[in-house]
Amino acid sequence: MIEYTTTDDNPAHEDALGPDWELICGLEVHVELSTRTKLFCGCRNEFGNEPNTNVCPTCLGLPGSLPVVNETAVEYAMRLGLALGCTVQRGVFARKNYFYPDMPKDFQVSQYDKPTNQDGQLTLPDGVVIGIERAHIEEDTGKSTHIGDTGRIHGATSSLVDYNRAGVPLLEIVARPDVRTAEQAKWYVAELRSIVEALGVSDAKMEEGSMRVDANVSVRPVGSTELRTRCEIKNINSINSLGKAIIHEAKRHIDLYATGEAPVQETRHWDEAANRTRPGRRKEDADDYRYFPEPDLVPLVPTDAVIEQIRAGLPALPSARRASLATAAGVTPNEVALIVERDLDALASDAIAAGAAPDRVLIHAEQSMADGSGALTAEAFAALVRMETDGELSSTQTKDVLAELIASGGSPADIAAAKGYEAMDSSELEGLLDGLIADHPDEWSRFCGDDTGDAKKMAGFFTGQIMKATKGQADGKVVNQLLQARKG
Ligand code: ZN
Ligand code: MN
Repeated sequence: MIEYTTTDDNPAHEDALGPDWELICGLEVHVELSTRTKLFCGCRNEFGNEPNTNVCPTCLGLPGSLPVVNETAVEYAMRLGLALGCTVQRGVFARKNYFYPDMPKDFQVSQYDKPTNQDGQLTLPDGVVIGIERAHIEEDTGKSTHIGDTGRIHGATSSLVDYNRAGVPLLEIVARPDVRTAEQAKWYVAELRSIVEALGVSDAKMEEGSMRVDANVSVRPVGSTELRTRCEIKNINSINSLGKAIIHEAKRHIDLYATGEAPVQETRHWDEAANRTRPGRRKEDADDYRYFPEPDLVPLVPTDAVIEQIRAGLPALPSARRASLATAAGVTPNEVALIVERDLDALASDAIAAGAAPDRVLIHAEQSMADGSGALTAEAFAALVRMETDGELSSTQTKDVLAELIASGGSPADIAAAKGYEAMDSSELEGLLDGLIADHPDEWSRFCGDDTGDAKKMAGFFTGQIMKATKGQADGKVVNQLLQARKG
C-alpha cells in the first residue's frame, strides 16, 4: 500500500529465508530536526550550503566555547516522543567519546541513561505493534568525503570534512527488536516518516540524509527464543534498499550457520550497486564510548504543563486518520493506508459524507490520484461518483471526467455534457440490441442456450458490439441487465 516498489529482480522477498529461519530486526532511525539553527549554537541548520560556511567556535569544538540548548529542538523532540506514545521524562545530556575527524570535539553530545523520551510504540497499518525503547536527542556529526576510487576511507588519497552538519539536532529513535519481516521494516520506516511529516519536525528525506536508518539484523531457528549475534547495517538510503539489505544480511547469516560458521558482531555497509552488505568496523560496546554526563549542560526538566501543552497541540496522526476514514468507508485501516499516505483522506471522507459510494471513492482515489487531487473538490467528486453509480456515466467515462476535474476543476455534469457523455437512454440500447439480434441469430441462440460457458462468451460478444456502436458510452452494467432480461 505504501508507495515503494517491489520488483521481480529484487531478491528481497521473505521466501528467500526459507521455512526454518526467523528474522529478528531492530531499527534505529536518526531524524534531523528542521529547526532554524543548530542544537547548541546559532549557526544555520540548512542542507546544501557551501561547505564549512555554517560554522562557529561551538560547533567546531574550539576550546572555551560553550553550548546553549535550542528550545525548539527540545520541543520538536518531545512532540515526536509523545506522538510515539513515549513517556517524556527528565533528560540528561552525555558525552559519547569517539575519535573521528568529523567530530572536532572528539565526542558527540547525546543522551545516554536518561533519554528525553522512553518506552513508546508504533502501530503498523496492519495492526502489528513495534515497541520503541527510547527516542533521544543528540547532535549530528560533520560529513567526511574520501577522495579516491572507492569513496571509502581505505585507499583514499585524502579526506575532506564539511562541518555544516556538525551540531544539527537529531532525534534517534531506537525500536525494540520486534520486526520479523523485511516488509514490516519497510512499513515501520514509512509510518515513522509519515508521523514526522505530520508533526512538521523534519523533512525526513532519506536521500538527503535527514532521515537515516540503521538495521540490526540477526536470525534464529523458527521456534527458538534465543537472540543470536546481530550485525548493524548502515548506509541505507531508501525504503526499498532497507528491505533488500535486511534480506541479504539475514541470508548471509543463514548461509554461515549452514556451513558451521557464525557471523561476528560488526557494523556493515549496504552497497546498493553490488546489492550486498560489506563489513565495516567492529561494533563498539557502550563501554568503549566512555559515556559521562555533559558538564556544560543542565538536565532538561519539562514540567507537566509543558508536556500537556505539547500533547494538546499534536495534529491527527496517520493511524488516527486511517481509522477515521476506514470507519466512514466501512473497510479496514489497511485498505485506506495508501489514501492517507497520499493525503487524500479528508477529500475521500467529505465525498463519502456528501453521499458518494465509499467503494467507488476509494477506488478512484487509488487509481486516479497518484499525483494528488489537483483542482478536484469533495462536492464535485461526490457528484461525479453519484452520476457513475446512477448509471449516467460508464466507469471509463467517469475516469475521463475525473481526470479533467483533477486537472482544471469544474462541474462533472458540464464536463460530461461537453464530452458528449449523455446518459444512454435504455430505449436507445434496446433498439441497438434488436438490430444486433437480427444480424447475429446464431450468436443469440448460443447466448440463450444451456452451455453456461458459451452463453457467457456470447454475452461478452453482444456487450462488445454495443460498446463499439456507442463508442464506449453505454454502461456495461446496464447492458448486461438488458441482455439478461431479454434472455427471460
Ligand atoms: Zn555553530
Ligand atoms: Mn546516534
